[in-house]
Formats: sequence, structure tokens, C-alpha cells
Amino acid sequence: MITLVIPCFNEQENLPLLYEKIIKAAEEWKEPFEVIIIDDGSNDSTWEILKQFHTKDVRWKALRFSRNFGHQKAISAGLFYAGGDCAVILDADLQDSPGEVRRFIEKWKEGYEVIYAIRLKRKENFFKRVSYKIFYRILGCLSDIKIPYDSGDFCLIDRKVIDVLNSIREQDRFVRGLRAWIGFRQVGIKYERNIRHAGKPKFTLRKLKNLAFSGIFSFSIVPLQIATYLGLIICATTFLLAIFYFFKHFSVQPHYILIIAFFLGGAQLLCLGVLGEYIGRIYNEVRNRPLWIIRDTLGINIKKHFNSL
Ligand code: UDP
Ligand code: MG
Repeated sequence: MITLVIPCFNEQENLPLLYEKIIKAAEEWKEPFEVIIIDDGSNDSTWEILKQFHTKDVRWKALRFSRNFGHQKAISAGLFYAGGDCAVILDADLQDSPGEVRRFIEKWKEGYEVIYAIRLKRKENFFKRVSYKIFYRILGCLSDIKIPYDSGDFCLIDRKVIDVLNSIREQDRFVRGLRAWIGFRQVGIKYERNIRHAGKPKFTLRKLKNLAFSGIFSFSIVPLQIATYLGLIICATTFLLAIFYFFKHFSVQPHYILIIAFFLGGAQLLCLGVLGEYIGRIYNEVRNRPLWIIRDTLGINIKKHFNSL
């Protein structure tokens, strides 16, 4: 069986078409399937629509969070309650076309455990495209594991991978990074990403920044080493300068001192900020609060709890 995991935040305009497209695409799969939609604290009629789906067809199941917990937690919850032999993660706005899933399934049957989509062309605005490009390249430089460039959360993962993901206790979840970290046989499939069918993007700039920070700080400790390198460079430079001035009998101009003081002040603040990022994350992890809170369900038994595993 295949489980489709679909995070949803105020997607009432997209759900009816999503339903049709999935039913149509599923005819080609010739596999039993279930759909788990996670209502991530929507305040439109998303939940009412999900109820209709479930009444029409019990394969359509849903979880409703008590508030907005964010896309990554919604995906994690969906995977936690997935009953399939594999799971496909896709967005509700039809940017990830259900028609592509057939190609994922073919690869899965060839024996791959992780099949992820690679976006050929982004149809978002210039600013977003450039930011994504820069982000993935920075992440690639900083992180030891190779997180594929330009691949999002749209993917198919085998039961083995789902089980490993579910056993990872991290609060701060950057799912596409964890997916790469887990390993197994992985393959990327190129596809042209659609534009959002209807409604506004639900990822605000702030949410995107948080996602980017999660990616970098959860998968690399290189930023922590910035202080060391910066310190070394500054020490070496000042040492050389000191020798230079000693022989030259130079008198140091006051404004040079000011510039150096500002530079050092800035460098120290930067390093403190980086430290703060990690300490904040440690704090977040040790509090060990539930990753999400479920308010309602449709067709899903939530007896097992993520945190109590
Ligand atoms: N989403 C969510 N919670 C959020 C933000 C987004 O569940 O806090 C869902 C949203 O409904 C959509 C998917 O995540 O199904 C991707 O969101 P969006 O289309 O806004 O992201 P983009 O495609 O712009 O990256
Ligand atoms: Mg989208």
C-alpha cells in the first residue's frame, strides 16, 4: 500500500482539484493507497472539506493540529501515522503533480528506497529563485552529508526509511536533510514544478528563513568554527602589524584604532550570535515538548504518541 502524506495550511481552494487529480493518477498505479492530509491549523474550511472526503471515501484520512506547527512537523506527523509500504510526500497546492508519482513507483519497484524529485525550473519570483539557489549551495559547502541541490520534500520513501525517520527524536526537523542523512539507495528524478494552483503561498519569508536556518544549523557545525578561523586570522594580522610598526616606529592613527575596535566588536557579536543559534537549538531539544498536538482525526488511530516511543 502507498500512503500519500499531504501537509495543508488553508488550502480550501486546492483540495477539490487535488482530490480529482489523485484519484485519476491512482488509476495508473494499480496499487492500494491511503491519503493522510495534515491540517496544520487552518482557519478556512479545509477541515470541513477533509470531512467530506473521508465520508465519500475512507481511504482519505486526516489529522488536525491544534494550531499551526509548520510544514516540516506536519510531514513528520503524516509519516508517523502512515500505514503504507512506502510514503509519498507532496504539497496540497498541486505544485507537486500527482501524475509524477507513477514514475516514483516505477523506481521504487526497481529497488530504490528513496526517490526524490529534482526541480528543473522554478517558476517562483526572481528573489525566491536566487535565495533557494544560494541556500542550497551554502548548505552543500557547510554540510558533510550531500543534500541534493534543488530537491524539495516531494519524494517517495520506503517503509524502512519511514521507520528510521520516525525513530529520530529531533525536534528541529529538516526532513529533506534527514532523508539524505539516512542513506539507502537514493535516486533523483527530474521534473518541471508547476505553479501553485490557487491561493497564496503559505510559506512566509520568516518561515522560509527558519527552514533555511534549520537546514544549516542542524546539519553543520562549521559555523561554530568561524570564531576559531576569524580569531586566527585576526591574531596573525595583528601580530604582523605589530612587527611592522615596531621596525617602522610608526605612530598608530586614532581612527585606525576605531576601525579595528568596530571590526572586532562586530566579529565578536557575530560569533556570539552563531553560538546563540546552537544554544537555542539545544534548549529546544532538551525541553522535549511534543512535536505537535492533535486536535481531531479522521480515520486515524492516534493511540501511539511520537514522544512516548
Ligand atoms: N504548509 C503547511 N504549514 C505551513 C505552511 C505550509 O502545512 O505552515 C503546506 C501548504 O499548505 C502546502 C505546502 O505546505 O501544501 C507547501 O507550502 P507552500 O506552497 O506555501 O510552499 P512553497 O511551494 O511556496 O514552497
Ligand atoms: Mg507551494
